Amino acid sequence: MTDNIYKKIALKLHNYSKILIFPHVNMDGDCLGSSAALCHVLRGFGKEAYVLADDVTPHNLDFLESGVVTRDYDVFDEYDLAVLVDCGSRSRIGERASVFDRARERAVIDHHGVMENDAEFNFGIIESSSAATAELVYLIASEMGAEFTLPIAECIFAAINTDTGSFQHSNTTARTHKIASEIYGIPGFDGNRIVQLIYNRKSLGAIQLEGRIVSEMEVCCGGKVVLSAVTQAHLAETGTLMNESDGIIQKLMSIDGVEIGCILKEIDDKTARVSLRAKSYANVARVAQKYGGGGHMRAAGLTFEGTIGEAKAEIAKALEAELVRSNDEK
Ligand code: AMP
Ligand code: MN
Ligand code: MN
Repeated sequence: MTDNIYKKIALKLHNYSKILIFPHVNMDGDCLGSSAALCHVLRGFGKEAYVLADDVTPHNLDFLESGVVTRDYDVFDEYDLAVLVDCGSRSRIGERASVFDRARERAVIDHHGVMENDAEFNFGIIESSSAATAELVYLIASEMGAEFTLPIAECIFAAINTDTGSFQHSNTTARTHKIASEIYGIPGFDGNRIVQLIYNRKSLGAIQLEGRIVSEMEVCCGGKVVLSAVTQAHLAETGTLMNESDGIIQKLMSIDGVEIGCILKEIDDKTARVSLRAKSYANVARVAQKYGGGGHMRAAGLTFEGTIGEAKAEIAKALEAELVRSNDEK
C-alpha cells in the first residue's frame, strides 16, 4: 500500500513546469544530495527546475551541486511548485521562506518526525522511518519513470551514505541497502569515488581542529554523555570553517559506553548551534525540541540563544535528565 504514496507524488510532479527545490539551512549531504537528485530528475522530464540554496556548500559536498544549484532568489518571477526537501517547515529554510511563499503550490519530501506546522502543503510525504530523504526521492523518481543518470546516482548515494553514517546508524534498513545496491547498477557509478570525495578531502587544519575538540571533550553521567565545544577561537587558530567540524561528533560517539554525544558550535557571542546524537536508546530529539530544535530520535539539533558556556551548562543538564528518562523507559 505504501508504494502508492510514491506513485501519487510521482504523478503529481508531472503536472508542474517551473519548480524550485528548497534544502534546509546548514546544508548536509542528504538535503543537498536529495534536492539535486530531484532537480536532475525533473529536468530529465523537460521541466525548468533549480535548487535554491543560500549558505555555502561544505567543501566535501561541493560535487553535489552538480550544476543545478542557484542562489538567485529571482531565478523565477512566478513559479508553479516549491518543494521542501529533508525538512518540513518554513523555519528550516531561513531567508528563502519569502521565495517559498511566492510559489503557486507547495510540496514536502522529508523524513523528520517533528515539524512546526508553519507551512501548508498541497501534497507530499513525511516518512520518518526512511533512513534518508534520498530514499524517498529515489522511490518517487522510479515511479515517475525517470532515467537514472550518473549525477542522480551520485547524489542519491552520497545523501544516503552521509545520513546513515556510511550505513552504520540505526536508521539503516534492508531498503537502504537495496536502493544502494540498485545504484551500483547505474552505468558509470563508482561508489569508492564518492566516498573519497565525501570523507577524504579534509584540510590539515580540519584534522588539527578535530584533535583539539576531541582532547577538550568533557565526559559525564558515568561515561555515558560526552560534550565538546567548537569556538570561533578554535576556527581562527586552525584556519577552518565551522562546517569542517561536522564529522567530529562521530568520533565522540565511537567511545565505548557513550550513549549521547553533543557538539556545541559557537556561531557568535549570543548564539550556539548544538548537534546531538544517541547510540541506541536515548531520545535526543526530545531535548532538541525543548529548545525549539528538532530532528530524529538518534540525531537532532537546535539553536541556543546564549553564550557557548551557557549553552554547554544548560544542555549538559538537559542531556543528563534525558538519559535518566530514557533509562526509565527502557
Ligand atoms: P545536525 O546535528 O545539524 O547534523 O542535525 C541532526 C538532525 O537534526 C538533522 O536531521 C537536522 O536536519 C536536524 N536538525 C538540526 N538542527 C535543527 C533545528 N534547529 N531544527 C530542526 N531540526 C534540526
Ligand atoms: Mn538533513
Ligand atoms: Mn536527512
